[in-house]
Amino acid sequence: MTITDRLNATRADIERAARDCGRNPAEIALVCVTKTFPAEDAVPLLEAGQRVFGENRVQEACAKWPALRARYPDIELHLIGPLQSNKVKEAVETFDVIESVDREKIARALAQECERQGKRPRLLIQVNIGEEPQKAGVPPKKADALIGFCRDECGLAIEGLMCVPPANEQASPYFALLADIARRNGLPILSMGMSSDFELAIQLGATHVRVGSAIMGHRDYAAGEGQK
Ligand SMILES: *Cc1c(COP(=O)(O)O)cnc(C)c1O
Repeated sequence: MTITDRLNATRADIERAARDCGRNPAEIALVCVTKTFPAEDAVPLLEAGQRVFGENRVQEACAKWPALRARYPDIELHLIGPLQSNKVKEAVETFDVIESVDREKIARALAQECERQGKRPRLLIQVNIGEEPQKAGVPPKKADALIGFCRDECGLAIEGLMCVPPANEQASPYFALLADIARRNGLPILSMGMSSDFELAIQLGATHVRVGSAIMGHRDYAAGEGQK
């Protein structure tokens, strides 16, 4: 199977999962995660009409995407990895959506940088839904306060939430908890579900699924580039 075959298979899976639970497939965006893969691997996806992509490192995205954007101006690029203060400038320059806002300090820095650049990337809060020490994200109990802080203290419009549930556990309670936090805060966007569990996430209300390896193939972190 080629990358394009796997893209089409994933699109079909998303559509089926949506219909199976009575949702309109058009409500669910596929964020294709291209981290570790070279720019040329994104070209067949772009040629097949895919426009929404995710990267987890600011540096890597800055090197990869400006040239592709020059050829395909309607790309929508999402930052799905942790954001450090010293990368906020590049992140605001490079990304259309930042899914990983997770603390007050970053919210303040983003507000300042958005003002300075006159740019408004769309923003999601990352929730550390399983409260795992090694993972980024605001703890579920502090999510409401951070959403309020962004809105009231920084003037940032938060559109939704993102999470990565604990590996090797049933993901549904975590997806349901994220959906709860979004509902009580009136947030319409839920970025949840990856290659192994996006169908489940769709059942539980995902509006964005972030799919990497099911489309791109196995990631080889050591080589710094993906393999097919
Ligand atoms: C890598 C990554 C993905 C994609 O993971 P796959 O299992 O390859 O689909 C999704 N979300 C985040 C935050 C990631 O870092």
